[in-house]
Amino acid sequence: MNALILGGGPAGCAAAYELRAAGVVEITIAEREALGGCARTQRYEGIPYEFGPQVMYTDEEPLREVFERFLRQTPPPTDDGEYHPKVSIDGTLDDPHDFPITVANVLKLPDPARAIYELYQVNLEKPDYTSFESYIISRIGRTLYETYVRNYNLKQWKIPPSEMDAEWARFRTLTLRERPDMFRGRWQGHPGDYNPLWEGLAAGARVVRGEAAVSADFQRVSVDGDPVEADLIVSTLPLSADLEFINTCILYVVVRSEAEVMPSYATSFPNHYGFVRVMDYRQQYRVDSELALLDFEFPWVGVCEEQKYREEAEWFCRNVLRREILESWVWNKERVYPVATRKNLARVEAQLERAAASRVIPIGRAGVHAYCSKDTCLRMAKIVASNLDAVRSGDPARKLAVLRTLREKLN
Ligand SMILES: Cc1cc2nc3c(=O)[nH]c(=O)nc-3n(C[C@H](O)[C@H](O)[C@H](O)COP(=O)(O)OP(=O)(O)OC[C@H]3O[C@@H](n4cnc5c(N)ncnc54)[C@H](O)[C@@H]3O)c2cc1C
Repeated sequence: MNALILGGGPAGCAAAYELRAAGVVEITIAEREALGGCARTQRYEGIPYEFGPQVMYTDEEPLREVFERFLRQTPPPTDDGEYHPKVSIDGTLDDPHDFPITVANVLKLPDPARAIYELYQVNLEKPDYTSFESYIISRIGRTLYETYVRNYNLKQWKIPPSEMDAEWARFRTLTLRERPDMFRGRWQGHPGDYNPLWEGLAAGARVVRGEAAVSADFQRVSVDGDPVEADLIVSTLPLSADLEFINTCILYVVVRSEAEVMPSYATSFPNHYGFVRVMDYRQQYRVDSELALLDFEFPWVGVCEEQKYREEAEWFCRNVLRREILESWVWNKERVYPVATRKNLARVEAQLERAAASRVIPIGRAGVHAYCSKDTCLRMAKIVASNLDAVRSGDPARKLAVLRTLREKLN
């Protein structure tokens, strides 16, 4: 049996690894750039960076084993060994709050009594699944939602949170925390370099550089316009051309400072600026350097306004950090965040049914049209490899049942 994998990001590399483990000997990966996708590690003056904060985490032993087979884990840069992102609700760095929201945050609000009253009304057993907005309000109350969540999501998704499906929120487990615990005690860290993972997972597969495409009915697959065939085709490409995504322009800037310039490795700004978050790679990876490498993450649809983003980052560095930018560059990617409106999710279901009647197996973030983490990519690949009989049976119902399980647990 031979397999063709479209896209060599975390999902494609994981698929190569799991298929080989399941006995598929001839595997080809068609990749337009380089293995690793969003989580390919680059370097600036010894500081590693990826496309945004790429923390690895998992609570599943078999997935952890895969990470550890190829990677050395560098623990997070905090005393308790956990990552602690921060959030600035006023646009300054004077008094950053915890993210996810903690009891300490509530006490810092102008009207804590109101937030506490609303928290008393919360019934975690009975979330309101009407929309993303109603779901979050049902878990943390309106005041906390409006202070920390509403505007961030407007910036990120460009549509009112009331129009987003609750599916997106369900996997973010947003509740009031006693203490900051972004990854809820899960095994977490950063290797300092993810590339041995991508190369290790893909070892033994033939990697061809090219632009892959799948026809709308999943019946034809091509690489650089040439039709290709395989017994098994795993696609990490978008499930359909008409599903909506948010594009992301990440602007990297370098400033000189011996002291930390940001309060955390990742600081979000729900209520100010066009960027959603500033990432500090030197802090995340505990690199000893007099340079700080930061990134500003700008979600966009329609037109990427790079010049405007540069001006805003410059303003922030000059006025908030009191630093001049020494160097800057962008890494812009289209179709990064799958939008979870009800309309899109209905299309996803219809597309999965179509894919079930073909040889194509969609996995990964774009393949199942859901935001997912690296460990979710590994899990999806495992699900496919352990259900090869079903996905190759020619029985659409059996294959569809497997495809649906890919979306059951999204981190
Ligand atoms: C800003 C940001 C921060 C994140 N932080 C974390 C985190 O902290 N922890 C975590 O676990 N996850 C994180 N993630 C999620 C993680 O990046 C994804 O789970 C992972 O990248 C998804 O892998 P993928 O293979 O599905 O997609 P991608 O990483 O996008 O890889 C897709 C690959 O396919 C290739 N490709 C696309 N189209 C074609 C084509 N037509 N032909 C050929 N090749 C093609 C691309 O070049 C790319 O290599 C983050 C994501 C983002 C965007």
